[in-house]
Amino acid sequence: MSKELRDIIAETKKQLEHLRVLGVDGIQVTAAPVVERPKPVVPPRPEPIIKPIENVAPAAPMTSLFGEMAPAPVKLTPSTETFEQIHAEIGDCTRCPLHLERKHVVHTEGNRTARLMFVGEAPGADEDIQARPFVGRAGQLLTKIIEAIGLKREEVLIGNVNRCRPPGNRPPTPEEATTCKPFLLREIAIVQPKVIVVLGNTAMKNLLDTREGITRLRGRFQDYKGIKVMPTFHPAYLLRDPSKKRETWEDLKQVRDYLDSHP
Ligand code: URA
Repeated sequence: MSKELRDIIAETKKQLEHLRVLGVDGIQVTAAPVVERPKPVVPPRPEPIIKPIENVAPAAPMTSLFGEMAPAPVKLTPSTETFEQIHAEIGDCTRCPLHLERKHVVHTEGNRTARLMFVGEAPGADEDIQARPFVGRAGQLLTKIIEAIGLKREEVLIGNVNRCRPPGNRPPTPEEATTCKPFLLREIAIVQPKVIVVLGNTAMKNLLDTREGITRLRGRFQDYKGIKVMPTFHPAYLLRDPSKKRETWEDLKQVRDYLDSHP
């Protein structure tokens, strides 16, 4: 028995003895009233911080170790320029070594309000002579591809990363591409097509700033400042390997379906 309890008993005895002395010969003992204890208020459970997996949107790529907000996606700034202004500025261009052997500067051509644009690498021999993009054998195949998705060549816009023919049809060097590409990007900012089809590695790498190869990215929509970009094989490659036409057709059907569902 604890000391505290022994003290309580001794005090109680003393009180009872005191009452007896006062003439009290009995006390009524009643059960102590049962005091209803207030029920503890249970606060509602907070929503779980970790949501069930099926409700979670795919994680956006984090930009930093500590998960700061990702930068806002870059959108194309609308342009008030005209193609004529850009072409006048390009002039009789000597900005890169490709001017040494070219016959003509080959500008972007087609519908300047197009919803669909095709971007290739650089002019070949036929384009250099005619001063028009995609008019040789590869160009004729591109025209067939455009028609296969229900459009006419005049309805789309067609351009190249470089406007001068590289000698021997070699790909433009990174420096040559970097020098010429800004003019193409300014035209894209004017037209703001819904979809750009990039034809082959050079066009894809230059528009998307990627190190990935065309075989890996083709058939999957990418983004250029809010514009859908579909990488696919270059028609010159299809002429060398016709078995790749099937994949190209699959890629172009996706483009057609996207345009049809976004009138
Ligand atoms: N190949 C290209 O990439 N562009 C052309 O204009 C012609 C052939």
